Order: sequence, then C-alpha cells, then structure tokens
Amino acid sequence: MASTQYSFTRNVDTHSRTDVVVIGGGPAGTAAAIAAARCGKTVALLEKSAQLGGMGTLANVSIFMPVGNVTGIYREIIAEMLAAFLPDGHDQSIAPQYSPFLLRQYLNEKMKKENVQTFFHSEFVGSVTEDRRLKAVVVSTREGLRAFEGGVFIDATGDARVAIDAGVPYHAGRESDGLTQPMTLMFTMQDTGKPVKQVLPEGCYFYHDVAELPQGRRLYWEQHGDGTLLVNMSRVKANGAKLADVNFAETEALRQVFSIAHYLQRTGFETYAIAHIAPQTGVRETNQIEGLYTLTERDVVDGARFADVVAQTNYEIDIHSPDAQKTTDERKVDGYDIPYRCMVPAAYDNLLVAGRAISATHVAMSSMRVQATCYALGQAAGAAAAIALDDGDAAKDVSMAKLHDILERQGVRFRVTTT
Ligand SMILES: Cc1cc2nc3c(=O)[nH]c(=O)nc-3n(C[C@H](O)[C@H](O)[C@H](O)COP(=O)(O)OP(=O)(O)OC[C@H]3O[C@@H](n4cnc5c(N)ncnc54)[C@H](O)[C@@H]3O)c2cc1C
Repeated sequence: MASTQYSFTRNVDTHSRTDVVVIGGGPAGTAAAIAAARCGKTVALLEKSAQLGGMGTLANVSIFMPVGNVTGIYREIIAEMLAAFLPDGHDQSIAPQYSPFLLRQYLNEKMKKENVQTFFHSEFVGSVTEDRRLKAVVVSTREGLRAFEGGVFIDATGDARVAIDAGVPYHAGRESDGLTQPMTLMFTMQDTGKPVKQVLPEGCYFYHDVAELPQGRRLYWEQHGDGTLLVNMSRVKANGAKLADVNFAETEALRQVFSIAHYLQRTGFETYAIAHIAPQTGVRETNQIEGLYTLTERDVVDGARFADVVAQTNYEIDIHSPDAQKTTDERKVDGYDIPYRCMVPAAYDNLLVAGRAISATHVAMSSMRVQATCYALGQAAGAAAAIALDDGDAAKDVSMAKLHDILERQGVRFRVTTT
C-alpha cells in the first residue's frame, strides 16, 4: 500500500442551494427526499447511478421482505405500484416480488410529482464543513465537480460515505473481526417454453449438487406467475466498501451466476434462460456510523420500545455467513422499535444518516437492513430535517412530538405505542 499523501485543492462552482440535500437515491434517500419536500422544503437528491431505488433496482433485489408494520411511504409505494399485495388490515406482513424496472420508472415519476430535484450520475466526493455544520457537498457530475449547498444534509449512501468523509466515527462488520455480510449478484431467468442450450462459460464452476452451491441452498422466487425466476444464490466474501473486495466480488459473483444458472438448467429449470443480470453485485453491509444511540442485538431480541421511535420491524435476524460459509443465521424476532438517535451523529448539527448505515451492531443491522425499514428511516430523516430547519434546531434537538405529528400526517402509523 502506497503511503504518499496528496493534498488536493480546487475551486468548485456551486450548482445550487436547497433546504435539504439528500445523498443517495435508494430506499432511504428517496423516502427522505419525499418527506422533506412534503414539508415544503426544496430538496436536491444526488444519486451516483442512473436510477433510483438503490439495491432494490441497481442490484435487482426486487422483493420486499416482510417487516410487520406496512406503513408510511413504503405502504404508499405498495398501494400505488403493487396494490394486489396490500392487505386490508394494518397488521399483516407482506413480501411482494416486484419488477425492478417498474420501480425505477415509478420512482422517477414520483420524484417529479413530489417536487424533488433528482440529479443522476452525481457522486458525492467530499464534504465542506465549518464547526458543527456541513456547508456543502462536492459532487462529481457529468459537468465536472460541483458544490451543492444545503441547510440539512441526509447521508443515504448506504455506506455512510458523507458522514465518514466528515469525520464521523464508524465501524464495519462483526465486532470480533470486522467481516461484513457477503455480496450477492442477483439475476433472473425466464421460462422459454422449450429446452435451452446449456452454456458454462470459461472460468465458471460445474456444481454437482446443492451442497456445492455458494450458499449450500436453492433460493429463488417465482411470484410473478409469468415464468420469471428471481435468483439469490451467489455469495462472495467481500466488504462492498473496499476496493480490492469489490474488484474480486464483481468478477467472482458473475462466474457464480453463470454456474448457478447452468446448475438450475440441469435440475428442474431445463427451459429457463438467463434474462437479466443486475448491473452491480448487491451490497448487504458495509459501514455503520456511531450515533447517539446504537441499536443492539438485545434490542432486537427483547423487542425494545423507544419514545423516539421512527421505524418498527419484525424482520428476522438474517446473517449470510460473513466468512462465505454455506450457512445463514436466521432467527425470528417479535418486533422492535428503531429510535431516531440511531441516525444522529454527535459531531454535527445538520447531518443525519438514514438507511442501512445507521448506528447499529452487526447483528442488529442484519434485521433492520431490509428495504421497508430503510424507507421508514428515510421518511423520518426527511421530516426531521424539515423540523430542524423550521425551528432552527440541531438535528439532535428535533422535537419528537413534532416529528411524530408530521409522520402521522404523512401516513405513518406505529403499531405499539410507547410511553
Ligand atoms: C443481495 C441482496 C439481497 C437482498 N434481499 C432483500 C430482500 O429480499 N428484501 C429486502 O427488502 N431487502 C433486501 N436486501 C437489503 C436491501 O436491499 C438494502 O439493505 C436496502 O436497499 C438498503 O437501502 P439504503 O437506502 O440504505 O441503501 P442502498 O439501497 O444501498 O442505496 C444507496 C444509494 O446511494 C447511492 N450512492 C452510494 N454512494 C453514493 C455516492 N458517493 N454519491 C451518490 N450516491 C451514492 C447508491 O448508488 C444507491 O442508489 C438485500 C440486499 C442485497 C445486497
């Protein structure tokens, strides 16, 4: 590893100033942008790729895992895009499979309707800070580097990229050895109605039986009823926020995808051809900030309730082996709250971190990481940002009574009330 350091100075033009700047357009970022805009704030949403939806579209995750409390903007998405899956009652879990292409289109239109200015191909590269505040983020755009100024910044990059750049303390992976959950390249196959030619490209593996598969199991969904098979069966030991790991993962995961497809074509899916491979290998876990409160395994297992609840879930503890062994640690949980403080870094007054990079231990993160929960956290962050601006408060001092009131007006319901 080279030890030379360079100092890099540039004059960067400001593109715009908005009340709220959201970095990252995944579940957390899109919901944060919508929630802040609904409070009357001007919002810039910066996304490094060409699409919104985060892992849900970019990595073709395309199934919403059940969280118990189907509420807020997440519920709205289901109602508007997948109404057939929505239960009448408020208290039933659903796990709808969706089209990542439709979600991508839906989110584009949604942002337009909600008056969110979305900037694609706009990748955060650095933060400009002054004392306890972020003044601007520097972003690599198709026009070169530009600064986006804002009143409150919401880091929804999934990797806490903004917070870490600004010096917020963080940790990654298992407390024992720092290993994160493995990466997976999702793909779909399509029933062609006739036997397909089986191809095993150079560099791929011939799997003889289930035990040889990367996860030691078959894991796929066929909910569309149209011959589409969504496959989640590759597994690569890698931290998606590390250069060398990602380089390895992007090649190894593709090898596995072709090898798995070949295996499936020999064992029950003889008429299925690969239809789509996600443009990037999915990242489950990278960095967690250290916030005012850290969600723990105990909270998840004991069903902790918090006065500053912002999201509720009963999604299981779900840890794909960080060593990339053929095991998955799955443990049912009854349901718990996630407190607002998990999104608040102590060192800054106008920065929130929403989505999978909140302050949580490795085990707690494995349960809170699914999309519905990230939408809920994002929505709360967006509403909190608006309150902070209206009241001139630091993020840590936002009134929970006001936050709960706004969330309720935005359709959020908490099923277990706290005292
Ligand atoms: C293989 C796999 C399977 C999964 N299965 C399921 C499942 O079945 N159901 C489920 O509900 N969840 C599942 N998950 C989990 C879920 O998809 C993610 O945890 C969730 O999408 C996290 O949301 P997020 O908004 O925090 O981050 P992400 O979805 O990671 O979104 C972050 C966004 O920020 C953008 N970004 C990153 N860095 C920058 C930057 N520097 N500048 C600008 N933009 C940036 C990214 O491009 C991305 O759009 C799975 C995840 C993986 C990887």
